[in-house]
Amino acid sequence: MQLYEYTVPVVIVGGGASGTVAALAAREAGAEVLLIEQDARAAGTTSMSQGLMCAAGTAQQRALGIEDSADTLFADIMAKTRGQADPVIARAIADGSGPCCEWLTETIGYPFALDTGFRAVYGHSRQRMHGWPGHGGDDMVQLLHQRLAERGVDVLLQARLVDIHADGDRVTGITVERPDGSREPIGCGALVLASGGFAANHDMVAKHMPEAATACHNGHEGNRGDGIRLGAALGAALGDMGSYQGYAMLADPHGITVPPGTLVEGGVLVNRDGRRFVDETADIAGMVHPVMAQPDGIAWVVFDARIEELCAYTLEVQALRDTGAIRIAGDAAALAAIIGADAATVAATLTATSPDPFGRDWQTPPLPPYHAVKVGGAIYHTQGGLQIDADARVLRDDGSGFANLFAAGGAARGVSGPSYWGYLPAMGLGSAITLGRIAGRSAALV
Ligand SMILES: Cc1cc2nc3c(=O)[nH]c(=O)nc-3n(C[C@H](O)[C@H](O)[C@H](O)COP(=O)(O)OP(=O)(O)OC[C@H]3O[C@@H](n4cnc5c(N)ncnc54)[C@H](O)[C@@H]3O)c2cc1C
Repeated sequence: MQLYEYTVPVVIVGGGASGTVAALAAREAGAEVLLIEQDARAAGTTSMSQGLMCAAGTAQQRALGIEDSADTLFADIMAKTRGQADPVIARAIADGSGPCCEWLTETIGYPFALDTGFRAVYGHSRQRMHGWPGHGGDDMVQLLHQRLAERGVDVLLQARLVDIHADGDRVTGITVERPDGSREPIGCGALVLASGGFAANHDMVAKHMPEAATACHNGHEGNRGDGIRLGAALGAALGDMGSYQGYAMLADPHGITVPPGTLVEGGVLVNRDGRRFVDETADIAGMVHPVMAQPDGIAWVVFDARIEELCAYTLEVQALRDTGAIRIAGDAAALAAIIGADAATVAATLTATSPDPFGRDWQTPPLPPYHAVKVGGAIYHTQGGLQIDADARVLRDDGSGFANLFAAGGAARGVSGPSYWGYLPAMGLGSAITLGRIAGRSAALV
């Protein structure tokens, strides 16, 4: 039996969005909390993100006259996932996202505003992207950690979870490893696994999503699936392990995400031969595979000054401008020269035809001068993990729950269905933050 020098009522593993929000919620509920983070500076996939959270029925939406509700978000989740999302988790997220977003804004002091530049697309029937204007995911992580410090939550950095100890259905504590290889057992009254997904674990990706095994990974290297593997070793059930967000527009070689608005507002994807190959507005995550299937696995996002201006408020477009990733071509022939394609082919591609050969609800095609960014596809983050219930309690295969083990964020099963086509924009943080709050509250009640 594992002995502990000290025991903390609530231990949370992971200092990204889900872990910090879980810690804030557990602390608010009166628990003493210790947050464990493997890195010297907490960052996680959250810090790489745009910091956008989808949430329904918020004060921010109401202030702009947008009618939305938990039921509408639930319906959108089930429609996008073709009815294959776990309805219990979907309901918990749909019901919890709006109140969670408002709690973060009003009580925690996180300045969420509705991102009015992000249309209701890719499965969202309402505008419901909430972000901190002018700030991205790294600012989100740092502000949430500042709030932890203000509320007296202890954070142990450079401590990697390497083992979970349990007695039957009850977790008694964990072992963490420090950078010098020393190991330390820590007892806990309840444990929240918020250690992210497994997109950085090539073996797990190859096993659960073989079609993405050769895709490059554009997420945090700490997402090795530690919490998922250790939970499974205790007997936890796993769900939707084939689920992930791929993304088609990672600037090559700059490594900057080209925001989806470039396509939504009228841009197109053109391959090395100067041809379109897909309805660019059909999906956000599923587009990765059509791009990977093109010659050299690359494409060019082609837009124009009007579209760029509409997206210029995003940090990503500002970074693309700063790094010179956006190439400008006066006409189709100049664009063809940049792409290395035939000029007549590019000119024909940029002339909209009706009906569109790919079924796109075509708007005005981009107009010269053309703006173009070379892009490749990548896997950004996984969405499957430990099976949980509406309280974020980790379940076994037989449906029974652990007494004091909870999971949230990338470590838990999300609501993106079984594969790459069920992801709703900003559901990574939508679920991480909403389930983080639920998990923290549940852990405090143990
Ligand atoms: C480029 C990019 C942009 C994105 N943009 C958005 C967006 O705008 N909106 C959106 O909803 N989603 C977005 N996502 C997805 C979103 O970032 C993730 O879904 C979300 O951040 C997951 O949060 P998390 O707290 O579960 O994981 P993370 O933020 O990855 O945090 C997990 C933490 O656990 C730590 N950890 C891991 N293993 C251990 C261990 N064994 N011991 C101790 N600590 C450990 C890690 O170091 C990390 O700090 C984006 C993803 C990428 C890659």
